[in-house]
Amino acid sequence: MSFQVAVDGPAGSGKSSVSKLIAKKYGFTYLDTGAMYRACAHIKTAFADDDASFIKILENTDMRFEPAPMGQRMFINIDGNETEITDIIRTPEITAMVGEVSAMRDVRRLMTAKQKDLAKRSEVIMEGRDIGTVVLPDADVKFFFTASPTERARRRQAEWQAKGLEVPLEQLENDILKRDEMDSGRKEAPLKKAEDAVELDTTGLTIDEVISIMSAEIDRKRRT
Ligand code: C5P
Repeated sequence: MSFQVAVDGPAGSGKSSVSKLIAKKYGFTYLDTGAMYRACAHIKTAFADDDASFIKILENTDMRFEPAPMGQRMFINIDGNETEITDIIRTPEITAMVGEVSAMRDVRRLMTAKQKDLAKRSEVIMEGRDIGTVVLPDADVKFFFTASPTERARRRQAEWQAKGLEVPLEQLENDILKRDEMDSGRKEAPLKKAEDAVELDTTGLTIDEVISIMSAEIDRKRRT
């Protein structure tokens, strides 16, 4: 089996920024599983009449990522029609509904199968909520990120500012806490630290500091 790194944690804990850099450093394939659940939320609103038709469409949807200078582009292909969904899945509307969609058992069944399959093809760093517990329970290295809610809201605010939007900190913090509650409280694959995961509180740490802690752990495991 190829080398696998699992990174879990709540929104804004810093998983994405560092996972992308670790992927680059080690030549791993980076997989953002949150984007896949966001894609599901988009498909539900854009194409489905009810839950049954939604799941049927999902069963016939291909998802694909393409590297881009500012991260990744994402595409879905339904019945041979490919569309880019990179920007639409980051809108506040999708963010507000993704927690509900990702809690659906059939959605998780389909996404987990896709994620396991992608991990078979190359060395991966996969980030999400249930990677170390459900998707890659035998991952070589597992991390569980945390950070204070205010710090996480600040990071989200900076991301919106970079896109030219001013969103109040309090609103972002409330949204984050609501999503934490949904993700941790759901029945199917809740957000939870795997027993063998290294817990990393990234509050007050720089990206370089986080990278160096993760690299030490990855290097240690790669030597054994
Ligand atoms: O990581 P991101 O914030 O983009 O994830 C969006 C949502 O997708 C999460 O709030 C969660 O509801 C869902 N998710 C999940 N399992 C994963 C990754 C994301 O349920 N492995």
